[in-house]
Amino acid sequence: MADLQHIVEEIVAEMAAATERGRIADYIPDLAKVDPARFGMAVVDAEGREYVAGDHATRFSVQSIAKVFSLTMALGMVGDALWRRVGREPSGTAFNSIVQLETEHGIPRNPFINAGAIVVADVLLARHEPREAIAEFLRFVRQLVGDATIVIDHEVARGEEATGFRNVALANYMRAFGNVHQPVEKVLGTYFHQCALAMDCRQLALAGRYLMAGGVNPATGRSVVTAQRARRILALMLTCGHYDASGDFAFSVGLPGKSGVGGGILAIAPGSASIAVWSPGLDSKGNSLLGRRALERLVRHTGWSVFEAGGGPLRTGASRG
Ligand code: GLU
Repeated sequence: MADLQHIVEEIVAEMAAATERGRIADYIPDLAKVDPARFGMAVVDAEGREYVAGDHATRFSVQSIAKVFSLTMALGMVGDALWRRVGREPSGTAFNSIVQLETEHGIPRNPFINAGAIVVADVLLARHEPREAIAEFLRFVRQLVGDATIVIDHEVARGEEATGFRNVALANYMRAFGNVHQPVEKVLGTYFHQCALAMDCRQLALAGRYLMAGGVNPATGRSVVTAQRARRILALMLTCGHYDASGDFAFSVGLPGKSGVGGGILAIAPGSASIAVWSPGLDSKGNSLLGRRALERLVRHTGWSVFEAGGGPLRTGASRG
């Protein structure tokens, strides 16, 4: 589909020229070093075709996008029992907020805020030591992508271990409520290493294929999760995937997506495409400023919004409002 390649290239050219690029997350030491001029994009469609442009082959820290994969693993381990320990509502607060935990008895609002992902890491540790849990997580992601070269950036993880005081507070607070079962250092070590997963846009888009394809990895034909579970993960991405700007992302892009403070966004057009964008500058809510703008453009050209009547087919030419 040459048209889509053209659209992706046009979007990348537009983003390269943008002067307002947002602010790099500098609270994690290694992220502060990333060049704000970088921009990459990759789209993988349901037929397996790939459309890439810009810095699509540069690896970046996926950060909170990893929460999609750790949630998928935890659901595979404990199934719906997970929902006794983590909610499914947008939080309306920042990704690292502690206030709700007090009134809600240590049960995080959803698995995509830090507190929720820390509980998910605790679940993944129930059967393993951190080293094995992290290795298993990495194996899972490598399988999704079909790429054994994917690694965790241990420098990034160490940086967070040294500076992640809020996460330490969240984990201890939930431990006090009995919602973190393993020792806090182990849980956080696992969580930080998941966040420090390094991938490029193409790899990230490939990793998201099972969510595009009803739970099946189209490359292997193997089921990763049931179709119902894939739908539910997408529902959580739509409602909770962009911190307290999730409503706004649904409003302006209309796709389930998950962002990370490394500047990446994984967005899924169910049945049509898995999309990854990366631009390290963030908006005031911690989401990639140009990444989101690029997705708005893409959806306008393709009609991939999940709210599009009759939705889906790629339509090019006149862009829609
Ligand atoms: N590891 C980061 C933290 O816990 C993740 C932040 C994010 O991407 O939302 O602060």
